[in-house]
Amino acid sequence: MNFQNKSTAILLSAVTVFILSIVISPEEGGFYLHFFRGLVLICVIWAFILFITSQKKNYSGKLMGDELKQVDSPKNSESDDELQDRYKYLLHSIFNTIRSINPDYQGAAYIIDHDKNGFALQSATSNEFSGFVPHDQEILTTILKQKEVQVFQYNKNRDSWTQLFSERTWRGSECILGIRIVNKDVSVGCLLMTVDHFSKTQERDREILFNLGDLLSLGIAKIEKIEELLADNSYQDRIFDLFNTVDIFSDEEVLYDSIQTLCHSLFSYDKFTIAMVDSSDNLPIVKLVDGITEDVDAGDTFSLDFSLHGKVIKDGIKIRSRYWENDYPEMGRFRKDEDFNINFSAVLIVPILMKKISIGSIALERLTSRSYSSSDERLMEHLAFTVGHFLSWQEGYREMYESAIHDGLTGLLNHRAFMNRFEDEVRRAIRFQQKHVLVVLDLDKFKRINDTHGHLYGDYVIKQVGKILQNSVRNVDVVARYGGEEYTIILVDTDQTHSLAVTQRIVNNIEKFNFSLDGVDEKMTISAGMAEFPKDSDNIKILIEKADKAMYKAKKLGGNTVEVYA
Ligand code: GH3
Ligand code: MG
Ligand code: MG
Repeated sequence: MNFQNKSTAILLSAVTVFILSIVISPEEGGFYLHFFRGLVLICVIWAFILFITSQKKNYSGKLMGDELKQVDSPKNSESDDELQDRYKYLLHSIFNTIRSINPDYQGAAYIIDHDKNGFALQSATSNEFSGFVPHDQEILTTILKQKEVQVFQYNKNRDSWTQLFSERTWRGSECILGIRIVNKDVSVGCLLMTVDHFSKTQERDREILFNLGDLLSLGIAKIEKIEELLADNSYQDRIFDLFNTVDIFSDEEVLYDSIQTLCHSLFSYDKFTIAMVDSSDNLPIVKLVDGITEDVDAGDTFSLDFSLHGKVIKDGIKIRSRYWENDYPEMGRFRKDEDFNINFSAVLIVPILMKKISIGSIALERLTSRSYSSSDERLMEHLAFTVGHFLSWQEGYREMYESAIHDGLTGLLNHRAFMNRFEDEVRRAIRFQQKHVLVVLDLDKFKRINDTHGHLYGDYVIKQVGKILQNSVRNVDVVARYGGEEYTIILVDTDQTHSLAVTQRIVNNIEKFNFSLDGVDEKMTISAGMAEFPKDSDNIKILIEKADKAMYKAKKLGGNTVEVYA
């Protein structure tokens, strides 16, 4: 009987006794009356004490629950913070990519806020975006309904436009590109990119935004998955920890090592194997082995057909078997007719899926027939899911970032990426006491090309010159498109005396090249200016100015030549 029932019973009996004591008159009473009244008093006090203690217990039970949660979950609250940080970092990376395409572009992410019936701003690159937008806002609702990137021009959407921004004056040529953010097949928000001039938006920008939207959706799903894992048990906490040790820029080896460390602490095995399909020949290659290596070791490839490990990858299915040879008699572990003198029995192999495509496997194998449990299987599936998700996230981000830091026309580094890279190179030069030479190059009388043959021909020339420059220097040197028909090169770890010949060769290569597009032939020349770090300056901006000055001097001398800053 619980406290509540007990005290009710006592109260009821007290009430009964009380009624009886009233029914019995004082004349009849005497001893009985006092006895009954005493009994009533005891019952009431008892009921009262029980009632109080039960209340207390309920209360302290509740309190304990809270305390327990708190005691248990500094990790949880920490993890919540980490998840928040992760989300912020994800948005930061996405905005960074947007700004890398063009520093004038702005980005913002809105997520539906059901409580407030609208869209809440998650983060943005500038404070001109409204913090909250009503649910019927035309631009956002249109984006939400479409799979593809949507483009809105200020001039054509003035009314709904102003809802999205705090006070600001607009020129009229601005436009917004937007892509929806999806979670579990439902639109949950959108990612916006503002571009200062409609004519600037290229197909590539749309593509980048489309992929960034994808990346954000994936990232949100990933964060949600971590939340799920956190809510589960402590083993799964450790899978979460795996995520924390590996970041978006980690090498694959770091990831594999972390998986192995984790599996080592979670499972018993005689051999642990991670294999991934090589994208060049579609063959699985062993990336990491722990335990027995006599049969197959890291770096070995194996067959997708008639092999246990291959089947998992090929069919994208998991295999858990106590006696694998009985269950799959027609197969070998790694290939059909292998003759290793090692007899594995119990196996648990799970596929690593990336965007639903099987790209690898994680395998645990034992020499004994002690089978892997269904909870081992679930855990391994979680792990493989996490790894797959992580890899696609990483790959997506890398692709996006690479695309954003390169100039769309030439494929060379763009202005902003060049400046970042220059800073890196200068830091390195200071550490290793190196010298670098900066070369600024500008095509001579380029306007004439556009004027006589049109912009497409001009584009072709800009692209072709980019190729010539890239092919004229070493791999370590950095070539960038600095602006329209202007290029910059960092000749790494060299000085002006040694690099003058290189720059002269570049100028000659342009002069010699026969430009030809659609039967139209042209000749071009270029002017170059050089400045040396740290001799001419240890400041990047000043160095660029000095190389620029030297380049203009070369132009003044008639072009098609190199000048060294002096
Ligand atoms: P100078 O010898 O003094 O360098 O003369 P220039 O004509 O080369 O120099 P100017 O800077 O006056 O002209 C550069 C032109 O390059 C102007 C601009 O329209 C054109 N331009 C800039 N970017 C692009 C581009 O991406 N494609 C094409 N086709 N033209 C471009
Ligand atoms: Mg020019
Ligand atoms: Mg120019």
